[in-house]
Amino acid sequence: MLSYQHAYHTGNFADVQKHLTLCVVTNHLLRKESAITYVDTHAGRGLYPLATKETQRLQEYREGIWPLWQARQRLTDPLLSHWLTMLERAQPVASELTHYPGSPWWLAYSLREQDQLKLFELHPGEHEHLRTQMLPQQAQRVYGDGLAGMCGLVPVATPRLCVLIDPSYERKEEYQEVADTAIYTLAKARHGIVLIWYPLLPAGHHCTLLARLKESGIRKIWRSELQLHAPSEQGRGMYGSGMLVINPPWGIDERLAAAMAHITPLLGGECGYRAEWLVEE
Ligand code: SAM
Repeated sequence: MLSYQHAYHTGNFADVQKHLTLCVVTNHLLRKESAITYVDTHAGRGLYPLATKETQRLQEYREGIWPLWQARQRLTDPLLSHWLTMLERAQPVASELTHYPGSPWWLAYSLREQDQLKLFELHPGEHEHLRTQMLPQQAQRVYGDGLAGMCGLVPVATPRLCVLIDPSYERKEEYQEVADTAIYTLAKARHGIVLIWYPLLPAGHHCTLLARLKESGIRKIWRSELQLHAPSEQGRGMYGSGMLVINPPWGIDERLAAAMAHITPLLGGECGYRAEWLVEE
């Protein structure tokens, strides 16, 4: 069952948290020359024109990237300014927000000659969109299961590894499968950085993922959550977004907290951000 299409949700508050976290991690990785393999297990289309029928149906970007874009001239936080400048570069006309880039674009932007990028996408239509994107030649697009694909890649040939796992969680079992994939990956590549996105839903399915990782023996698991509002009493709908970073580069927590202090007031009065170690060193 593959019914999820990210075009309906692109640029929403969860994308803001996810892609800003990805940006702070890749920025840090670029401080050293040694080569990096990046893996995006659930790539999506790559770049999303906001004017499409799918994106216009819910217009979730209006409660995500849009208010940040509008305020960008007065947002002085260095990480946020850098990220919004990159976003400007993804626009055909720099001053107009007409496109929102997905994770393949954010990762491709950081690629140097010595780096590799593997992009997995299982939905045939989404993969076809991804196939037509202009990406650097180090970006390899694979039509297939990203979790199995990830396990098949480790250990990688480069000294460093950075993985984004960003499923649509259409099946409850995916929380467990994601945890198992991260555990397997880190058993083969102990210092790899693994980023995992998860939704905050009233049913609390993400607790399975957190519990499985916690009991795995893996150290240095950092988590952050951006909560848009309180969970609904009807028990439906995503009320927040979570990111795990396993083996986080030093200092990313402070840089993200500073950026989020500018972001949360723009996302509404109820919006809050918190971060902590799920498992310390
Ligand atoms: N990472 C993207 C971004 O940040 O722009 C968004 C990804 S979206 C949340 C999840 C994507 O995973 C969808 O495009 C879906 O078709 C794809 N997908 C679902 N199951 C998959 C699997 N087992 N392997 C690879 N891709 C999968």
